[in-house]
Amino acid sequence: MPPRPSSEKTLTVLGSTGSIGRNTLDVAGRFPDRYPIHALAAHTNVELLASQIERHRPAVAVAFDPKAAERLRDLKPNGGHTTVLSGMEGLLEAATDARVDHVVAGIVGAIGMRPAYAAIEAGKEISLANKEALVLAGELMLSRAEETGSRVLPLDSEHNAVFQCLNGHNPLRASAGSPEPGSMGGSRVERIVLTASGGAFRDRPLDTFADITREEALAHPNWAMGPKITVDSATMMNKGLEVIEARWLFGLPPERIGVLVHRQSIVHALVEFVDGSVLAQLGLPDMRTPIACCLAYPERLPMDLPRLNLAEVGRLEFEPVDEARYPVFFLALEALKAGGGRPAALNGANEAVVEAYLAGAFPFTGIAAILKQAMARLDKEAQSGALPPFVARIATVDDAVAADRHGRDLAARLIAESKS
Ligand code: MG
Repeated sequence: MPPRPSSEKTLTVLGSTGSIGRNTLDVAGRFPDRYPIHALAAHTNVELLASQIERHRPAVAVAFDPKAAERLRDLKPNGGHTTVLSGMEGLLEAATDARVDHVVAGIVGAIGMRPAYAAIEAGKEISLANKEALVLAGELMLSRAEETGSRVLPLDSEHNAVFQCLNGHNPLRASAGSPEPGSMGGSRVERIVLTASGGAFRDRPLDTFADITREEALAHPNWAMGPKITVDSATMMNKGLEVIEARWLFGLPPERIGVLVHRQSIVHALVEFVDGSVLAQLGLPDMRTPIACCLAYPERLPMDLPRLNLAEVGRLEFEPVDEARYPVFFLALEALKAGGGRPAALNGANEAVVEAYLAGAFPFTGIAAILKQAMARLDKEAQSGALPPFVARIATVDDAVAADRHGRDLAARLIAESKS
């Protein structure tokens, strides 16, 4: 066999039927010799997964849901040559297989943390879009990556933008344990700024928030994404989670991570250096751009995509985050400052609350109201010494899962109380 070109990477795509996964397969499918697919993993969307298997012919496919896996086996995509696995075991196997060079972690929610962590443990290069994984256990994941030599590439568009601005100026990440000025990143970087679209309700009069319908909450002005992240964009919890994500990815303390509302979604992030110079990364809001950046790193892929035309865009506007409009964003910042497993607990509470909201349990304003109560309860537990040890401090992946679960259960109780 001829030696493999060094640019070739065999991929596992976790969350292949979601928006990150579909965009990844669009990019990888343009360069099939360079990015052969070992495994595709999805939750329940068997029909789409089967058609992806037909096209990309992976050795392995995972349907997380066992019933979905049964249906997929019955469909015999790829002439039955693709092995179908299911459950967490299947995800872990797909993420760690020796034949895989690069894992795209595109699963939404806390469920994606274990496979992402397993890929890091196995020393894989990983494109990390699963922000909850970093929110739950960012410190643990990044320090483990340093030990195993796993290269963690930020796939979230804003973090990918920061990563691109930092390229050549300092290492990917100052050590999470020593983020003070004088550490590698801190000595050159003054601060980073993530931009936010402001979501579906950035212009909606505040006194009409009680009347927001589910359909309105699910209509994002700039990005086409799944329902959970679209609701998180409307509340700006998404940006709060991204600040936490950035804190671990780039080893910067919270006070050196800023956020601006930028309605055009053209500037994805900015990095301010100690000399006052500011670099920004610009591009049309298309996830294929950061995906191409991660897959090809440190090279660049020639991508035939619509190009940014600034004369057409005309204006770029920036505003501070309005506290009255986006209270949930500030809850996330508080959780980050409280530290330990508080971000994990808030994430769990948020997942439970958004799920209940999407199921019609309460109006849009209930999301912020219940999360605020959940955070207040956690503060109370902390003050009275009743905070479980895994919420106080995350030492293991199990702690992170337990802290997330604690927040989820707390939110479920508050939702039930709000109904009675
Ligand atoms: Mg983002």
